[in-house]
Amino acid sequence: MASRKLKTIYLERMTIKISNLTPLEKERMDCVTEAANQLMKHYGLEHLKFDFCHSPGHLGLCHQGTLIEIDLFYILNASDEAVRNLVLHEIAHALVGPGHGHRQHWQNKARELGVTWERRYQK
Ligand SMILES: [Zn+2]
Repeated sequence: MASRKLKTIYLERMTIKISNLTPLEKERMDCVTEAANQLMKHYGLEHLKFDFCHSPGHLGLCHQGTLIEIDLFYILNASDEAVRNLVLHEIAHALVGPGHGHRQHWQNKARELGVTWERRYQK
């Protein structure tokens, strides 16, 4: 399966990168993890795990019922506010449940959470 192989390659690349991170970057990961876990708890999602990923075409992913992931390299460069916005974006996905994409139901929840977005989502 090509997609599985690609995912493995990306994960391997991320593993290599993590081992090369500076102490400051590792601290950044810890800070973001703590902030994300606090936000998830605030919205009653403490049963979800938070982790970092690196996958093409996504800054963040919500695996319904199990996991919220955000891009490691994004958090190393983005502002606290942008990272918070991204975590809340994924939290909105978790709260509305599967099958809503970025359509109206998700948009309503995202606005309620204070999420801002510039792009026009297609799905
Ligand atoms: Zn989304």
